[in-house]
Amino acid sequence: MRVLVFSARKDERAFLRQAMVKLGHEIAFEEAHLSGRTAALAEGYDAISVFVNDCVDAEVIASLDSLGVKAIALRCAGYNNVDLDAAANAGIPVVRVPAYSPYAVAEHAVALLMALNRHIHKAYNRVREGNFSLDGLVGRDIHGKTVGVIGTGTIGRVFCQILRGFGARVIAYDLYPCEEALEMGVEYVDLAKLYAESDIISLHCPLTPQTHHLVGAEALASMKQGVIIINTSRGGLVDTQAVIGGLKSLQVGGLALDVYEEEADLFFEDLSGEVIADDELMRLTTFPNVIITGHQAFLTQEALINIAETTAQNLSDLESNASCSNQL
Ligand code: NAD
Repeated sequence: MRVLVFSARKDERAFLRQAMVKLGHEIAFEEAHLSGRTAALAEGYDAISVFVNDCVDAEVIASLDSLGVKAIALRCAGYNNVDLDAAANAGIPVVRVPAYSPYAVAEHAVALLMALNRHIHKAYNRVREGNFSLDGLVGRDIHGKTVGVIGTGTIGRVFCQILRGFGARVIAYDLYPCEEALEMGVEYVDLAKLYAESDIISLHCPLTPQTHHLVGAEALASMKQGVIIINTSRGGLVDTQAVIGGLKSLQVGGLALDVYEEEADLFFEDLSGEVIADDELMRLTTFPNVIITGHQAFLTQEALINIAETTAQNLSDLESNASCSNQL
């Protein structure tokens, strides 16, 4: 297949080229996100590949269809940015990479938690300036704390396992509780209990109409004072305005985000020389107890190789009409 990769980042190109060429696909890269404005770039290609911030709505799918594009390959697990009904109506199969490295994301969530809880971001800067004062650096043991995990799928379960290793009590909420989590000592509870009892809450469920702004004003008010919230899942799970209110009132004791609800025009770009107009994101960066990374939780070598190989294989499966277990 001739494949055009939208939102192609430098860090992934070599892995993608190697995997695609190995399976006989031709590959071209496009830095731009896919949108109504850029869909025309797909002319002459059999398939396109997209990532988390590409817009694959009905309008874009109609354009792709008119250009003869025969497949859409997501290089990610989440597919909230794709209108699956429109794709089905156009007869364009959509494939994804369901689990490239759950360890990458779960370990990043733990890294954010540890940095936030032990003030590593502050200590790093202090020591570089010759300031060895310990003022304001008091953390808390994770051991013995109650950690609430929302979503115990592939990534959530790895996160649970690591936190169980720390000696934390792990409670969880999921629409479908799973045996593997129970076996590692995770206790399933309803959301109200999870909010009421957790010292730390980590989000690992997908963004759906039901989970949009799951962490909003009402949920925040029912959480323990000083709760630490970690979101490595999707930005839309957290109501940014509400969480800023929670940080100001000290209801929220720490916030770590790898994803942000308005990240689409910001993340993955070097905007260091630009004026950033997003006041909520900029407000978040002013809090000493907020850490933000720009959607990098997945970014390990193992994950990039897995994403590239699975994407190439998905397209080969579609090309040979073999059933593709990663088709949505
Ligand atoms: P998964 O499908 O294996 O697990 C998701 C879990 O959430 C499932 O167990 C499901 O039952 C549960 N769930 C669904 N709706 C729910 C609800 N309303 N309330 C509670 N639980 C609910 O997915 P995964 O591979 O573990 O990934 C989780 C999320 O992580 C993805 O949806 C994606 O948005 C995000 N993600 C982020 C990055 C990153 O780089 N930051 C990378 C990969 C995935």
